[in-house]
Amino acid sequence: MKITFIGTGNMGCKKRANTSVLIDDLLIDIGCGTVKQLGRLDIETKSIKYILISHYHSDHFADIGHFFVTRYIRKELENRIKIIGPIGLEERIKGFFKMTEHGEELLENTEIIELKENIEVNIDDYKIKPIPLSHGRIKPTYGYIIEKDNKKIGYTCDTTVCDNFEEICKNVDYLIGDANSITTNANHMGLNDFTEYAKKYKNCKFYAIHRGDYEDRNEYVYFPEDGDVLKI
Ligand SMILES: [Zn+2]
Ligand SMILES: [Zn+2]
Repeated sequence: MKITFIGTGNMGCKKRANTSVLIDDLLIDIGCGTVKQLGRLDIETKSIKYILISHYHSDHFADIGHFFVTRYIRKELENRIKIIGPIGLEERIKGFFKMTEHGEELLENTEIIELKENIEVNIDDYKIKPIPLSHGRIKPTYGYIIEKDNKKIGYTCDTTVCDNFEEICKNVDYLIGDANSITTNANHMGLNDFTEYAKKYKNCKFYAIHRGDYEDRNEYVYFPEDGDVLKI
């Protein structure tokens, strides 16, 4: 499997693109600027078949319309796209596409799949389990356990420390998650929290994303930069 860190920053970060991760042909989160960032990394939209959304903050969702307009303009329309996310996805997607001239046409050959919390689904080669996280007033916010080729990857953006975050840590080989700032804030884990779990769950590799402009590093956590590739 190939994991590409498309963006590793949080919304206020100046140096890094908004958080987005590509696992083979499944793109997780598509916030403001993700489509341009894919272009900068020379990744064509036609290499993506699945778009998985964690929650409906603009740094995770707002480029969804731009993605479809871009693939239409570039004539990269080969794939049937499955858009997967928390309850409310269909209503939001349709709202976005009402704003564009070719909205209905853009959504042709697309499937929208809404996930209920804790109900695991099989989507082609992927097994995806959505697990509710704690992200202030933003409900639902899902973390995911994604299983493919006998590998389990956890994605936890965005969240504060909560039991379900720890539950994901216990059950995955790789954890890619929110380390928004150096210390905890009201809606996010800090690197301090993230590092404590990395120390506790040594069989799991922890990758800090959704990072602000801080440069703190430590030996327990990996700190991917935009465009980095991890083969597992
Ligand atoms: Zn958020
Ligand atoms: Zn965010």
